[in-house]
Amino acid sequence: CGIIGYVGPRDAAPLLVDGLRRMEYRGYDSAGIAVFDGQGGVSVAKKAGVLGNLEKEIGDSGVQLSGRVGIGHTRWATHGGPTDRNAHPHLDASGRVAVIHNGIIENFAPLRAELEAEGIELVSETDTEVVAHLLGRAFAAGETAGDLAASMAAVCRRLEGAFTLVAGHADEPGMLVAARRNSPLVVGVGDGEMFVASDVAAFIEFTKDAVELGQDQLVVITENAYDVRSFTSGEPDFRPFTVTWDL
Ligand code: GLU
Repeated sequence: CGIIGYVGPRDAAPLLVDGLRRMEYRGYDSAGIAVFDGQGGVSVAKKAGVLGNLEKEIGDSGVQLSGRVGIGHTRWATHGGPTDRNAHPHLDASGRVAVIHNGIIENFAPLRAELEAEGIELVSETDTEVVAHLLGRAFAAGETAGDLAASMAAVCRRLEGAFTLVAGHADEPGMLVAARRNSPLVVGVGDGEMFVASDVAAFIEFTKDAVELGQDQLVVITENAYDVRSFTSGEPDFRPFTVTWDL
């Protein structure tokens, strides 16, 4: 029920957890983050229950969650119970793509069957995990190989339902890709840093310059730029605005 993505100069993990805390009022049953270390690595920490459980997990696990690019998620389970394993982020089979999702992928069952028929083993019961595998596959080979934004667009065209998605790839460490349909997504434009979130509350501490994305839009963020396009056939649809309220 809350989504945040960050690309910039700060240590991502504590910033992501803080952003999730600011969206806590929306309700959730699990939380997780993934951090890209900029050297081809990605680390994930996720846990059922309150954000305090995730923070404890981060402290206890000894996992190196250092990096300046990352994604954070609070989950309100729709497919699969509120367990550690079903918590987001979800990774693809290569372990290099991390995806978070709010919403419901209505056609996840045939997509899951397609992946399983190819020998891909899904480790969660969520509708979301199919997106991670489809994205990893689209990035690895075929028409969209090596292009994370084009891969995400191709995957989104296959999805039915409601989604705010944010994804990163360990091989593309300076950027994140986000997309939306029937579910909110805003960009936060900082000075040398960029955010995406489901709610401006996630980044209002850092910037009041925001960009609302229209239906079926995809955005690529790097620390200095955001680039919006439609993942269907239309023109880019986005609206910059200034957040006028304070915390
Ligand atoms: N449908 C997804 C799941 O159950 C996402 C739920 C949400 O919006 O947090 O994992």
